Amino acid sequence: MRIIILGPPGAGKGTQAKLLSSHYGIPHISTGDIIREEIKRNTVLGVKIRGYVERGELVPDEDVIEIVKEKILLGNCGRGFVLDGFPRTIIQAKALDHILSGMGLRIDAVINLVVNEEELVRRISGRRICRSCGATYHLLFNPPEKDLKCSVCGGELYQRIDDMEETVRRRVRIYNIETKPLIGYYEEKGLLINVNGVGDINSVFSEILRKLGS
Ligand code: ADP
Ligand code: ADP
Ligand code: ZN
Repeated sequence: MRIIILGPPGAGKGTQAKLLSSHYGIPHISTGDIIREEIKRNTVLGVKIRGYVERGELVPDEDVIEIVKEKILLGNCGRGFVLDGFPRTIIQAKALDHILSGMGLRIDAVINLVVNEEELVRRISGRRICRSCGATYHLLFNPPEKDLKCSVCGGELYQRIDDMEETVRRRVRIYNIETKPLIGYYEEKGLLINVNGVGDINSVFSEILRKLGS
C-alpha cells in the first residue's frame, strides 16, 4: 500500500497518516516531522532550512526530495508507506514518480482531505506537539489525558512557531498556489480519493478505509 495524504495545513494529514500507518503496518513518512527533527538537532540541513519553516515558506524542493528519496530507499518500505506532507509541489510529485518508477513501483492512492478554512484555523490554533516524541494533540478536539503532558511519553507540549496566526495565513496562501495543483495532477492519473475531513477523527478514518476498499 503506497499512499499519499494531501490537504491544506491543519487538515488532519498527520493524524490520519498515523492511523493508516498502524492499520496497514507501513511506515509513516512525514516530511514536516523529519524537518523539525533536523532543525532540533541543528544538523547542517536543519540550519539551512530553519528560516523557511519559521517563515511558513516551503523548504527548497531539492532538499525535501533528497529526504524522501533516502527514506524510500533505506526505510522499511517493503510493504509500502504513507506519505504525509509530501509532495507539496508539482516538481516534487514528478520527482516522486521518477524515484518510484526507478524501483518498478507506483503510488496506489492519494487521499485528499477536504476541510474548510474556518475549521483549519480552529485546528491549527489549538494544535500542540510533544517536544520529546512529536505526538500531536488539540486542546479541545484531541486533548492529552493529563494536564498538558504527552499521553504517550509524558513530554512537554508546545505550540509550533509556524502555527502562529500570521504564519498560518501565509502557509495557506502558499498551499493554494503551490500544492493545490496536485489535486488535478493526481486526478488525471485516476488516483485521487476525496474525503470529507470534517467530523471526528475516527469517522474520518473510517471513511478513508471505506474508500480505500478495506
Ligand atoms: P496536518 O498534519 O494536516 O497539519 P494534524 O493531523 O496535525 O494536521 O491536525 C491538525 C490539528 O487538528 C491537530 O491539533 C489535531 O489534533 C487536530 N485534528 C486532527 N483531525 C481532527 C478532526 N477530525 N477533528 C478535529 N480536530 C482534528
Ligand atoms: P502541516 O502539518 O501544517 O501541513 P508540516 O508539518 O507538514 O505542516 O510542514 C511544516 C513545514 O515544513 C512547512 O510549512 C514547510 O516549511 C516544511 N515542509 C514540510 N514538507 C515540505 C515539503 N514537501 N516541501 C517543502 N517544505 C516542506
Ligand atoms: Zn510524547
